[in-house]
Amino acid sequence: MRIVLLGPPGAGKGTQAKELVSKYGIVQLSTGDMLRAAVAAGTPIGLKAKDIMARGALVPDDVVVGIVSDRVDQPDALKGFILDGFPRTVPQAEALDRMLKTKGQRLDAVLELKVDPSVLLRRIESRIEQMKLRGEALRADDNPEILKQRLEAYGSQTAPLVDYYRGRGALRTVDGMAPIDEVTAAISKALADAALQTGSAGKRAGKASVARKSASKAQKTAKKPAGKPAGRVKAAIKGRSKTESKTRSKTPIRGRKSTGKRVVKAAARRAARGPQKGKKAKSARRLTK
Ligand code: AMP
Repeated sequence: MRIVLLGPPGAGKGTQAKELVSKYGIVQLSTGDMLRAAVAAGTPIGLKAKDIMARGALVPDDVVVGIVSDRVDQPDALKGFILDGFPRTVPQAEALDRMLKTKGQRLDAVLELKVDPSVLLRRIESRIEQMKLRGEALRADDNPEILKQRLEAYGSQTAPLVDYYRGRGALRTVDGMAPIDEVTAAISKALADAALQTGSAGKRAGKASVARKSASKAQKTAKKPAGKPAGRVKAAIKGRSKTESKTRSKTPIRGRKSTGKRVVKAAARRAARGPQKGKKAKSARRLTK
């Protein structure tokens, strides 16, 4: 199963992604986590991303697309994955489409966690308070000022993805303001609906392909010149009777008599059998005269 989780910062994507990981045994691919790890490790990508992330802006598309493309090729992602925080721009979504196409994969669903912007700020502030109480390290961008920047980036660059995926019929919207377990249940239902839709789309595609195949077969048969002519027709084309043709085909070429002589003899035999009606009789009479 391959899922995209869309939603603004603080919508609960991380929490729900963890639920999906344990339910479906697939991996959570969070571009935010990957970039933070790169920053912590001081890799070239990390050095590039560090200041951008600290400002609450978006890291360039090509950088993020590159790390996602490498990550989905890892063995643990082969069974499926949840993309959390990616794509975040329309060009990233287009790059994802191309990437999955070349890998022979496709998305099963795009889940949008919808949360009122006014709720988001309060949610993140309370998350920060709880982390402080637990003595956990805070993220560099988890402060009210930067959070506003991240929400702005979401509104201007990521929100258009909702229309992008809605236009493709892949979008499932879930109320992200409900209690956590209700959101989890709504996501399960949305995924089941998506699976049903994909299944019937698959069946429709299968039926359409069978119909296409039989239509093209029918077309070929219609176009094809009539197959091997039947014995009588073949003989008629060559100007011989069917019996004659059969005899001829069995007679070695050297022993064959000329067509003219044989026709005369056959006509004579028919004439000897007595009067006949129709064309045959006429020609027999003519030839024996
Ligand atoms: P997140 O943990 O998803 O909130 O991401 C934290 C930060 O990482 C974001 O504010 C961005 O600076 C950066 N980031 C994460 N994912 C992406 C992405 N798909 N495109 C660009 N920047 C990203």
